[in-house]
Amino acid sequence: MELNKRQMEILEIVKANVPITGEHISERLGLARATIRPDLAILTMAGYLDARPRVGYFYSGKKPAQSIEESMIGMKVRDFQSMPVVVTEQISVYDAICHIFLEDVGTLYVVDNDSYLTGVLSRKDLLRTSLGGNDLNKMPVHVIMTRMPNITYCKKQDTLIDVAKKMIDKQIDSLPVIEENVDGLNVVGRITKTNITAAFLSLGDEHEL
Ligand code: ADP
Repeated sequence: MELNKRQMEILEIVKANVPITGEHISERLGLARATIRPDLAILTMAGYLDARPRVGYFYSGKKPAQSIEESMIGMKVRDFQSMPVVVTEQISVYDAICHIFLEDVGTLYVVDNDSYLTGVLSRKDLLRTSLGGNDLNKMPVHVIMTRMPNITYCKKQDTLIDVAKKMIDKQIDSLPVIEENVDGLNVVGRITKTNITAAFLSLGDEHEL
């Protein structure tokens, strides 16, 4: 249930002045007690306020429902990211393919000896190399990976909407989540189209769709 502007104002007044009588709430709003009576009844029935006779209204702690738009804007990478699967530049294409299966991921992130991000390996990067008649055991992944500075990444505090836009614009399936360091980028997570789908579904739960 979405609250109207006056109901939201009443909630804020109660939060800041708990406990407070209906009379005092109406005074603060500059309205007659009778005018706000239906709002107080709705807020109490919906569980936002507790009413105690001869004491006043208390805030129950229940958060007002957000609109879908507000929920979407509030979705952050940190709340939906997965663990990154990271390999070093020297491992062979053959071993990278094994990692994709063993770790059950679609993309591997490649790091240098200092653990800083240097590349991205997708399923198709590995497939393409396998088709080329190369010796996969001898070929290191740094030869075929997409490398810095061409890597699209994001940070924990970014919104999922920003990430989704980047995925569509660049036609990629995932972004590494990084923390910036003076010497390079540390990979701290992974955000994929699956994470975005999970976020989409969670909107449905939150809004009872
Ligand atoms: P696939 O190639 O398996 O369909 P993607 O669509 O994610 O997977 O990858 C397409 C190409 O973009 C690949 O060459 C891959 O190396 C590259 N790529 C994937 N993710 C990124 C990223 N975050 N930044 C830059 N390039 C990427």
